[in-house]
Amino acid sequence: MQTVFSKKISDFLLDIVFPKKCVSCGKLDTLFCEKCRGKTIFLKTQNCPFCLKITPRGRVCPSCKGKSALTGVYVVAHFEESLKTAIHKYKYEFVKALKDDLANIAWPYMEDFPKNAVLTCVPSSSKRLAWRGYNQAEEIARILAQNTGMRFYPNLLKRTKYVTPQTQLNRKERLENVKNAFAVGKKMDLSGKTVIIFDDLVTSGATLNACASEIRKLGATRVWGFVLARNK
Ligand SMILES: [Zn+2]
Ligand SMILES: [Zn+2]
Repeated sequence: MQTVFSKKISDFLLDIVFPKKCVSCGKLDTLFCEKCRGKTIFLKTQNCPFCLKITPRGRVCPSCKGKSALTGVYVVAHFEESLKTAIHKYKYEFVKALKDDLANIAWPYMEDFPKNAVLTCVPSSSKRLAWRGYNQAEEIARILAQNTGMRFYPNLLKRTKYVTPQTQLNRKERLENVKNAFAVGKKMDLSGKTVIIFDDLVTSGATLNACASEIRKLGATRVWGFVLARNK
């Protein structure tokens, strides 16, 4: 009881010192207001994650199939407008509470995937985890699992080395950078299963593909990436 009470007081004090306001327009009493959320531009078509050819649900196209461990990558929205601001605040300015708004934008699109799919996320390196205090992908993926009823294995993969953030590299460097960066963290039999790897953003697809190759070792038949937006 006491902890609930003192938590309420600390929330109250926090609200006075840092009043809750929309990260995009500054409207009070909300973190991401309805108007700004409404500006999200959802993708009408999906693309092969490697060559960006239009494909059903973001499947890897026949010509890229040979070099891919991924079945495809589903991208929810364009990395523009208020969504871009919200993702940025969530990732780099530690507005952790935005996880709910971001998950709410994404989860209806997960309904098209089989209910018995297994959900996981791109793991954070321990260095990043210490810096941010949370794995931003895991926080959202946990809510997606709750909302869809999918099984959630946050520790299916682990990082094996610290990598330079992908955004600072070109395509060739990105591929090299994530090589052997992930390993299976939890030995389990995923034969015949569909696995969905959640991440906030996809850029070249190299990170998701490196994760997918590890997951294939557990027998998974299909490995999808599922992301909020594509960072160009
Ligand atoms: Zn707003
Ligand atoms: Zn392709």
